[in-house]
Amino acid sequence: MTLNELLAGSSATVAFTGAGISTESGIPDFRSPGGVWTRYDPRDFTFARYVESEEVRTRAWAMRREFWASDPQPNPAHLALARLEARGRLLGVVTQNIDGLHQAAGSRTVIELHGRSREVMCIGASPRTGTPDGCGFSAPTSWAFERVDAGEADPRCPTCAGIVKSATVSFGQNLHPGLLDRAADLLGQADLVLAIGSSMQVYPAAGLPMIAVERGVPLVICNAEPTPLDDVATLTVDGKAGEVLSAAVDAVLGGATATPRPRSWGDPRRRRRPSPHRRASPGP
Ligand SMILES: [Zn+2]
Repeated sequence: MTLNELLAGSSATVAFTGAGISTESGIPDFRSPGGVWTRYDPRDFTFARYVESEEVRTRAWAMRREFWASDPQPNPAHLALARLEARGRLLGVVTQNIDGLHQAAGSRTVIELHGRSREVMCIGASPRTGTPDGCGFSAPTSWAFERVDAGEADPRCPTCAGIVKSATVSFGQNLHPGLLDRAADLLGQADLVLAIGSSMQVYPAAGLPMIAVERGVPLVICNAEPTPLDDVATLTVDGKAGEVLSAAVDAVLGGATATPRPRSWGDPRRRRRPSPHRRASPGP
């Protein structure tokens, strides 16, 4: 079976994406030469060290500022998945990425296993190891940048004076079980899984596509390097994700289709999010 044939036969595709889908947007993987990660290694910013050290938090804000200065934009791979969803053929995206580019492309159902770097959240004054314990305050990351620019090296929660951290999952921080459950539910409904740009090596996220495979659902893998799941994949596809997906989605949807209207990043001012999902979502 070809990718086009598999896509044409699917009405409930689920995409599982990793860092490789965003490299065409200029976001390098951790170990790639060049860019932000040659001077900052996110593995230095473990959850425990972030909680303990104001110096680590100050460096983390500088890293985040530099990361967003390049203003990365969604690429054709993100856009192709959003088009499939808009046409009712894709149930949603489960992503290991924190860059928000799926939503920027117009995707609506996006489960961000490792959180979101466009947002910051209160994690409390002294959270227990690996688990945020904040008051519920969250805001766009621009809120924190404004505070840093105003001279606060380590901006604190305006509600409870707790530590503020980007709403991503740091090394040493627990994934929120509710997110894994939602991802598993989605993959349980899939009739085709597209795994794009994931090395399939970071668990427990990488185990999610197996939920579908074990039900006999076809798995397509598009990644620059071989993955441990290649042996169980129905198809492995070489090439750049943007080109591969654009061509396949064009073929299945019958040529160029209107791109969904991208979402804005929202009001840059502070906002509170009472939704349990957001409040519970783990933080960088
Ligand atoms: Zn707070």
